[in-house]
Amino acid sequence: MSITETAASPASTSEVPQIGHWIDGALRASTSGRTAPVHNPATGAVQAEVALADQAEIDAAIASAERGYRVWKDYSIAKRQTVLFAFRELLNSRKGELAAIITREHGKVLSDAMGEILRGQEVVELATGFPHLIKGAFSENASSGIDVYSLKQPLGVVGVISPFNFPAMVPMWFFPIAIAAGNAVVLKPSEKDPSAALWLAELWKEAGLPDGVFTVLQGDKLAVDGLLTSPVVQSISFVGSTPIAQYIYETASKHGKRVQALGGAKNHMLVLPDADLDLVADQAVNAGYGAAGERCMAISVVLAVEPVADELIEKITERIGRLKIGNGAGVDGVEPDMGPLITDVHRDKVASYVDIAEADGATVVVDGRGLTIDGHEDGFFFGPTLLDQVPTTSRAYTEEIFGPVLSVVRVESYDEGLDLINSGQFGNGTAIFTNDGGAARRFQNEVQVGMIGINVPIPVPVAYHSFGGWKQSLFGDSKAYGVHGFDFFTREKAITSRWLDPATHGGLNLGFPQN
Ligand code: NAD
Repeated sequence: MSITETAASPASTSEVPQIGHWIDGALRASTSGRTAPVHNPATGAVQAEVALADQAEIDAAIASAERGYRVWKDYSIAKRQTVLFAFRELLNSRKGELAAIITREHGKVLSDAMGEILRGQEVVELATGFPHLIKGAFSENASSGIDVYSLKQPLGVVGVISPFNFPAMVPMWFFPIAIAAGNAVVLKPSEKDPSAALWLAELWKEAGLPDGVFTVLQGDKLAVDGLLTSPVVQSISFVGSTPIAQYIYETASKHGKRVQALGGAKNHMLVLPDADLDLVADQAVNAGYGAAGERCMAISVVLAVEPVADELIEKITERIGRLKIGNGAGVDGVEPDMGPLITDVHRDKVASYVDIAEADGATVVVDGRGLTIDGHEDGFFFGPTLLDQVPTTSRAYTEEIFGPVLSVVRVESYDEGLDLINSGQFGNGTAIFTNDGGAARRFQNEVQVGMIGINVPIPVPVAYHSFGGWKQSLFGDSKAYGVHGFDFFTREKAITSRWLDPATHGGLNLGFPQN
C-alpha cells in the first residue's frame, strides 16, 4: 500500500480523508477533534483534513522520539550509514510519487516539485558522507604526556518546523543531517500541505530507520509551542515568515534551546546598463514567476539602472505573454509554466498588494488580478503581474508579497540600487546582472545579503555550502545544511587526557594548569 492511500484514510464520520501523525514508526489517527482543511489549490476543493495535535499527541510524539534517540545514538556509524544510503536509493527511485503529492497539495507544477525533491536529495547525499563531517580531532602530546581530543555527539531530540512552500525540500535541509549525526527528529510540517512529510516517514521506515527516530507531528501553534517549550527537545530548526521566525527564536532561546530560524525575503535583482537584457528578461521571469513567486529566493524587485528600464519592461512583458497558467499536474500530459497559489486567502492578500501599489502611484503593466482558468474556475489562480515605478515607500515595495508579482524600481546608479537593497529589512538573496567583473566583485563585497548571485537569479547554495540570509531573514547564527548543519546538530566535547605514572605525576600543585 502506498502512502497516498495510507496517509489520508477515510474517517468514519466524514467523507473527507483524514491525515494523521507518524509516531512510533506508524501512522496514528488523531483524537484531538481539531482539524484544518487541505485544499487542492488547482481546483479549490477541500481534499482532506489534517489533524491538529492536542497536548496528549504532542507528548506522545516527543516521548516516542526520546525512545528512538536512545536506540539510534548507539547505532554504529557503519549501520547508520547503511540506513542513509537505503533512504537515498528509495528516494531516488520513487521520487515521482512524492512530486505528485506535492503538486496535489501545494499546486506547483510537477517539474518544479521534482526540482525541490532533487535539491533536498542533495542534502541526503551530503549526509551519507557524515562520518567524515562529525569526526573529532586529536592532538597528541599537547603537553608532556597529555593528549587533547574532541568528540561530536548528537543533541538528542530535535524539532523541525517547516513552511508550506517547500514541503519536501525544506524538511530535507535539516533531517538527513540531524539523523546522520545520531539525533531523533520531530517534524511539524505546514498544515497546508502535510502529506509529503508522511511519505518521507514511510520511506525512512522502509530504509531501516528504527521507530521513533523520525516523527511527524501535524498541527498548528499548539504543536509548535509544544516543541518550543518541551525540556526534551534540544534544538529548533524553523523556516517560515519573519514574524513567526522571530517568535520561534525568542521563545525557543528562552527555553534554553539551540535555534536556527529562517524568515521571509524580498530579493532584488540589480541590472546594470551593460547587461544583456534578453538574458536578464528571461531570468527575471523565471525567478519572479516560477512556483508562482512562492519561493523565499524568488526575485520580487528588479532595480533597473537607467536607461534600461523601458526596454527591459518591454522584454519582460513579451515573455509574460507566453506563459501558460494552469493545473500544476498538467492537462492531457501538458504541463503549464505556473500553477495556482496555495489558498484563496493568500491569493486575495497578493491581490491586495497590487491594489496598494496602484493606489501609491505604481503603473500596473501586466495585471494578474481576477484570472480564472477554464475548467478550474474555483482554483486559487493569480496571473503573473508586472508593476513599474513602484514607490519605495509603498508597502508593496517594503513588505514580502510571496506571489507572482514583479516590481520594477528605476534607479540612476549602482550606488542608488545598492543603498535600496541594503536599507531593506530582509537580506535573504540578491543578484546582480552585468558583464563588468569589477562591479560584480564590488557588489559581493558591499551588499548586506546572505546569498548573492552574479548573473544567477536564484543563488541557492549547493548542499556542501550552507543556506541562510542576513537581517530579518535569519534569526540565530546558524544556517541550514552544509558545515553549519553538522555543527548545529552536534555538541562538541573536548577531552584532556593523561595516563598517570610516577615520572609525569608532578605532585601537589595548586597553580592553574600550564603547558
Ligand atoms: P508561516 O510562518 O506562516 O508558517 C511556517 C510554520 O510556522 C508552519 O509550520 C506553521 O504551522 C507555523 N506557524 C504559523 N503561525 C504560527 C504561530 N502563530 N505560532 C507558531 N507557529 C506558527 O510561513 P508559510 O506561509 O508556511 O511559508 C511562507 C514563508 O516562509 C514566507 O515568508 C517565505 O519567505 C518563508 N520562507 C523562508 C525560507 C528561507 O529559507 N528563508 C524558505 C522558505 C520559506
